[in-house]
Amino acid sequence: LALSIALGAAVTTAGGVGVAVANQSGSHDRTRDVARAVQGAKGKAKYVIFLLGDGMGQSEITIARNYQYGAGGRLPGIDTPPLTGDITTYALQEADPSKPEYVTDSAASGTGWATGHKTSNGRISTTAGTDLILPTVFEQAAKKGWATGNVSTAEITDATPAVLASHVNARGCQGPTDMTACPKYKKSAGGPGSIAEQEVDHLSDVILGGGKGRFDQVIDGGPYAGKTVVDQAEALGYSVVTDAAGLDAVKKGPVLGLFNKGNMSLEWKGLPADKPVTGPQVCQENQRPANEPSLAAMTQKAIDLLLAKNAKHFYLQVEGASIDKQDHAAAPCEQIGETIAFDNAIQVALAFAKTHPGTLIIVTADHSHSSQIVEPGSDIQGLGSILTTKEGAPMEVSYGTAPKGGSQSHTGAQLRVAAQGPQAANVVGLNDQTELYHTLARAIGVE
Ligand code: MG
Ligand code: ZN
Repeated sequence: LALSIALGAAVTTAGGVGVAVANQSGSHDRTRDVARAVQGAKGKAKYVIFLLGDGMGQSEITIARNYQYGAGGRLPGIDTPPLTGDITTYALQEADPSKPEYVTDSAASGTGWATGHKTSNGRISTTAGTDLILPTVFEQAAKKGWATGNVSTAEITDATPAVLASHVNARGCQGPTDMTACPKYKKSAGGPGSIAEQEVDHLSDVILGGGKGRFDQVIDGGPYAGKTVVDQAEALGYSVVTDAAGLDAVKKGPVLGLFNKGNMSLEWKGLPADKPVTGPQVCQENQRPANEPSLAAMTQKAIDLLLAKNAKHFYLQVEGASIDKQDHAAAPCEQIGETIAFDNAIQVALAFAKTHPGTLIIVTADHSHSSQIVEPGSDIQGLGSILTTKEGAPMEVSYGTAPKGGSQSHTGAQLRVAAQGPQAANVVGLNDQTELYHTLARAIGVE
C-alpha cells in the first residue's frame, strides 16, 4: 500500500469541501525560494508586522494543517515565509533570576521579544526580582515617529498585547480596579496605572481587540480620577468603537476598538476532548457573531489606519490569542478554528508585503502547549477527541496535562519562527526568543 501511494501523484478533493490534497509523494512548494529571500533580507524595514500565535507550538500548527489543508498541504499564511528557525522560550525564576523557569507564560515570553530581556512569569516588561522598567521595541518605534498598532483576539490588556506599551509587575493588573497585585502601580499611589490606562496613555495609533470590561472601570487617581478608561481614551483623542460596523466607519486614528467585554468570540466549535475520547467529529465553522470583526479584518483595518498616519513607517503586532485559550480548555475544534483565523490574518500581512517591499514579517509563538496528535486507538490517559479531517482521515488529538475541567498546561518545547523581509535571515537556526528583539531593533534602526 505504501508503495502504491508513494508512486501515485493524484490530486484529489475530499468530502465535497474542495480542499486539494497535496501530491501524496510529499509536498514540493516552488514559491519558497530561500536563496532569493536571503538576498532580500538586508537593511532596515519600512514596515514591521509581528504576528504571534499564543500557545502555537509545532503540534498546534500541525493539527490545524492536517485538519484544514491535509497532511501534505501547507497553511497559506504560517507556512509561507521562507526563512525559518527555532526559538527557545524559557523564563526566569522570580526569587532567583539566575535560575531558569523551563515553561514560560505569555507575559514573560512577550517581555522577551518585546524588550530583549528575560523575566519571570507574570511580569509585563519589567525585570525579575528588581521590578525595573524595560523599554520595548514598540515604544522605540513610536519614539522614532513610526505609526504603531496592537491587535489581538484576547482582551487587549492580556499579557501578549500588554508587553508592548505597558510595564507592571503582575499581568492581572489589567484595569484600574484589578490592582491588588500591583499597589504601587496604582494611579492613586502615584504610579502609571493599570495596563488599560498605560496602553491609552502611550498613544498607540491603533488598539483593537476585546477587553471592554477593563476600559469601563473607573480610574482611582490622577487627571482622570472618577472617569473610566474609555473616557480617558476619548479625552486623549481616540475614536472608541465597539463593533465591526463602527470600525469600518473609522477613517483615521487614533482608534480604540473594543469588540467584546472579555476575549473576542471564537470562530469554530465542536466537542471538547474527554475520556473516553469524543468523536469522530467534524468541526462547526462560522460561529463568530458578525458584529465582531475577524482577526484578518482587524489586521487589514490596522494596516490601512497606520498607513494613513504614516505612509513611510509602521510597527504592527497581531496576536491570535485563543489558540492558547482553547488548548487550555482541551477544545480541539475551537483551537483549530483560532489557528486558521490567525493564518488568515497572516495572509493579509503577506499580501501587504507583496505590494510594499521593505516589510519585515515575523510569524512565531510564545510557548508550546498540551495538544498532541496520537495514533487513533491509543490508550491515552488524558483527554482525547477524534476529528475527521477535510481530506477524510481520522486524526486523534490528546490533551494530557490536566484532568477534565482543569486547565491544560503550557509546555516547554522550542518553537518555530518564520520570517521574510529586512533582517529576516536572523531567524534562521536556533536562537533564543530575546534575539527576536534585536532583529526587530535592527529592522527599525535603533540597533
Ligand atoms: Mg496572548
Ligand atoms: Zn496560556
